[in-house]
Amino acid sequence: MPTDKATSMKIVIFGPPGSGKGTYASLLKKRLDIPHISTGELVREEIQNKTELGIEIRKYSDAGKLVPDEVITKILKKRLTPILSKGFILEGYPRSIEQARQLEKIANVDVVINLIVPDRVIVDRLSSRVQCRNCGAIYNEQTLKPKITGKCDKCGAELFKRADDQPDVILERLKIYKANSTPVLDYYKKRKLLKEITNDDPNVSPEIIAERILKLVQI
Ligand code: ADP
Ligand code: ZN
Repeated sequence: MPTDKATSMKIVIFGPPGSGKGTYASLLKKRLDIPHISTGELVREEIQNKTELGIEIRKYSDAGKLVPDEVITKILKKRLTPILSKGFILEGYPRSIEQARQLEKIANVDVVINLIVPDRVIVDRLSSRVQCRNCGAIYNEQTLKPKITGKCDKCGAELFKRADDQPDVILERLKIYKANSTPVLDYYKKRKLLKEITNDDPNVSPEIIAERILKLVQI
């Protein structure tokens, strides 16, 4: 499939926690050769590196709550500004109208892909998700098991369960998502940038969904 048209596009992947945003974004990154930026990953990096900011935002992240708009925007801007000419696949941001406004000041987004996924699929997926401490690869104890339990296939490092992937925290994240997502989606609908993909079948592979996204992006 030709990818030229999508080169240096500015793409936002929007969807609830556990909708597979990160997985699809990294598949698209390989296909389109555009940098992938995940604000969730940026937050986890700050926390892991115990930066001043990391220490401040840990309490939000662990509880499944959103980091304040101005803090997350600062973190994002620092990372996004130097790579703007390459385009980006942004995931995890914006999550509020204020963030959508801030993003508009930083870059002109070309397309926003909204992933629609039922709650039961999300709760099932997140409660069995594990991640590599070293390279960030994602596995699932039910559907995408590593070859050796607790070890990453790619680099052999230890797999861990995120603090915010506990059932009560998952429900809190979904609640917050529902409260915040409608105005953000309306914002992009008005600007005619929004395209939607429904994924209610957990058996459809991530590659197939990424292919569908690619088609939407290239129209
Ligand atoms: P989720 O799967 O819940 O979407 P992420 O990996 O995207 O998780 O983000 C993890 C945490 O990082 C969030 O719960 C939140 O505390 C923080 N975070 C990430 N992106 C944002 C954002 N755009 N605004 C505020 N907080 C954010
Ligand atoms: Zn690994």
